[in-house]
Amino acid sequence: MKSSDWNDYSFETQAIRSGHERTHEDEHSVPIFTTSSYVFASAAEAAERFSGNQPGNIYSRFTNPTVNVFQERLALLEGGERCLAFSSGMAAIMAVGMGLLKAGDHVVSSRSIFGNSVLMFQNFFGKFGVVTDFVDLTDLSAWERAIRPETQFLFLETPSNPMMEIADIKRLAELAHAHDILLIVDNVFCTPVLQKPLELGADVVVHSATKYLDGHGRCVGGAVIASDELIEKAIYPFLRTGGSTLSPFNAWVFISGLETLALRMKTHCENAQALAVWLEGQAAVKRVFYPGLTSHPQHELALQQQAGFGGVVSFELNAGQAKAWELIDATQMLSITANLGDVKTTITHPASTTHSRLTPEARAEAGISDGLLRISVGLENIADIKKDLSRGL
Ligand SMILES: *Cc1c(COP(=O)(O)O)cnc(C)c1O
Repeated sequence: MKSSDWNDYSFETQAIRSGHERTHEDEHSVPIFTTSSYVFASAAEAAERFSGNQPGNIYSRFTNPTVNVFQERLALLEGGERCLAFSSGMAAIMAVGMGLLKAGDHVVSSRSIFGNSVLMFQNFFGKFGVVTDFVDLTDLSAWERAIRPETQFLFLETPSNPMMEIADIKRLAELAHAHDILLIVDNVFCTPVLQKPLELGADVVVHSATKYLDGHGRCVGGAVIASDELIEKAIYPFLRTGGSTLSPFNAWVFISGLETLALRMKTHCENAQALAVWLEGQAAVKRVFYPGLTSHPQHELALQQQAGFGGVVSFELNAGQAKAWELIDATQMLSITANLGDVKTTITHPASTTHSRLTPEARAEAGISDGLLRISVGLENIADIKKDLSRGL
């Protein structure tokens, strides 16, 4: 079946069957094409391929049949026209910047984005004369005030890490389009199972496939999803020249990850909700940050915008770093790692790990106290997760 034929199918079916056209070997599972280059039938055909007049593979830096299956499938799941895969989530974000920005341009970004994304905008795009202003994710008027004539796009993650704040994608897309600029959303925390930014008006979605898309903590990869025109004009030329290519093996792992994504996200959400409610009842816990709780300030927005509340729960203890570290060290099963989106539950202390490079003032402004812990809730039995946490609570 051609990729366009899958539009009439539901998400779960698309995630399992789309993108793959069987080869002459009639294989049932998607094959891994480990080939760097491709052979042409004649010198004339080689010339046609290189000129772009004839579609087809030339070199695996920019097209590979296994990578293509992952790209077609993820484009369909995000409701976008076209997807390009990259060697990591950061490579995907770099490609967006390299494709869309030039010296003198300006970006408005949420303050609460992945640490390396902040460094990419500040230290690297900044080095080439691009200025980025960082604003409060939920303050719509701050976004509006920050836009200048040179602004090219708005950039955000929602929910944010680790405070789980929610941005109103629809309203920010309206704001961006009123100024003739783009809205770019990092959809790592929700995945297309829980949130489809393109349908809410965003122009570009970026992914770290390393997280929920793989779902088992095995491979590093990323993706950009946007209109055919934007990918063709701005992103594909950078991939072709820059070479931050996803390997066919990693694409193959992500393809099977997508097949169980809907199923996994459902249980991640159920386990996270149960854990958040349980944590709220613990005497040692001051506050729980999870959009599925009615105590969350943007619970209503999350209900409208997301099909589920996600697998990440943060909570603040009635104490500081010593107690937070004690709780982490008292666990026997949970993995002490900053990675997220794994079937295994992970626990981290943001102030001393993921957000340790921020100044204490910046951390305080972002609400990341020394007593804050972040859990990426996995798919183990919820009773075992609670039991492991109760050891130190
Ligand atoms: C991990 C992550 C990234 C970066 O992805 P890598 O695959 O590690 O390069 C970007 N954004 C978010 C929200 C992430 O969690």
